[in-house]
Amino acid sequence: STSQTNTIRATLFPGDGIGPEIAESVKQVFNAAEVPIEWEEHYVSNSVDPRTNSFLTWESLESVRRNGVGLKGPMATPIGKGHRSLNLTLRKELGLYANVRPCFSLPGYKTRYDDVDLVTIRENTEGEYSGLEHQVVRGVVESLKIITRQASLRVAEYAFHYARTNGRKRVSAIHKANIMRKTDGLFLTCCREVAEKYPDITYEEVIIDNCCMMLVKNPALFDVLVMPNLYGDIISDLCAGLIGGLGLTPSCNIGEAGIALAEAVHGSAPDIAGKNLANPTALLLSSVAMLRHLKLDDKADRIHGAILKTIAEGKHRTVDLGGKSSTTDFTNEVCDNL
Ligand code: ATP
Ligand code: MG
Repeated sequence: STSQTNTIRATLFPGDGIGPEIAESVKQVFNAAEVPIEWEEHYVSNSVDPRTNSFLTWESLESVRRNGVGLKGPMATPIGKGHRSLNLTLRKELGLYANVRPCFSLPGYKTRYDDVDLVTIRENTEGEYSGLEHQVVRGVVESLKIITRQASLRVAEYAFHYARTNGRKRVSAIHKANIMRKTDGLFLTCCREVAEKYPDITYEEVIIDNCCMMLVKNPALFDVLVMPNLYGDIISDLCAGLIGGLGLTPSCNIGEAGIALAEAVHGSAPDIAGKNLANPTALLLSSVAMLRHLKLDDKADRIHGAILKTIAEGKHRTVDLGGKSSTTDFTNEVCDNL
């Protein structure tokens, strides 16, 4: 067609369980909104690829590297020895160093708060996830928490860049440097250094325990939060809970060379797979995050608006939100609301 020259190629991993159903929903909505994206679909293989030591093939990883952008459904790692988990393979091979999770209240879907609008940015490569644990003597074990200047600067830089390019005003570094003086201390030093370069963005430091209390008392106090790996794991789930749970929460992984791999936060939900019951909202909102990364903001706004409208109307809600609609009913309604 004539629009061919403007088409952007992106990798799509439909994934396992409910993955293919919710990925179908994204494809349908993108078609209806005439998003200029051509998907390269890749499935998890049913045998280990020796080049990646994983059920993800080398070709799949190459596809993301080549396109620089992708969308991933939930993946269930097959049980057994001698291979790496799918998520670990993606994180290592694509250098996915930051996990970005926007959390905002969905109008019309009632939770305790109606004014949440924050973004958590989690360092994704080190900290307590070094995998370095050993027994010192019987009854005493040791775990190494690794914090490096390089990884801390990289995630801080991304957080401030994100704040500036997304019209955000403030970045809060979340830490426990009063106890973890060296590790979290270095993380904060790096955040401060980067903050100097962004005088237009307010910078603050919040101790994690106090942060938790503030989040449950008044989440509207926060804007962008950046933190080491384990704190990010916990705080980002806490924030997902503030807005109604994992069926609604998008995320995007940022990797080396500007790679962006968006994904829903939830798992493969085998209990409802293949039944046309899954809520595609989390993956749809993840695809919106991907469109924003590609600077396709008009398409992103349109799709985002249609999702919010569909949920706010309340007539076509999926079962997890207390409704009766199927995945396809909900998707059709989103398309009608575009
Ligand atoms: P996995 O092992 O892949 O993480 P799981 O069994 O932990 O799978 P999750 O996907 O984490 O299951 O989901 C937990 C619960 O939330 C399940 O009952 C599931 O049905 C529900 N759930 C998760 N995602 C969705 C969704 N998009 N729509 C509706 N329900 C969902
Ligand atoms: Mg799970």
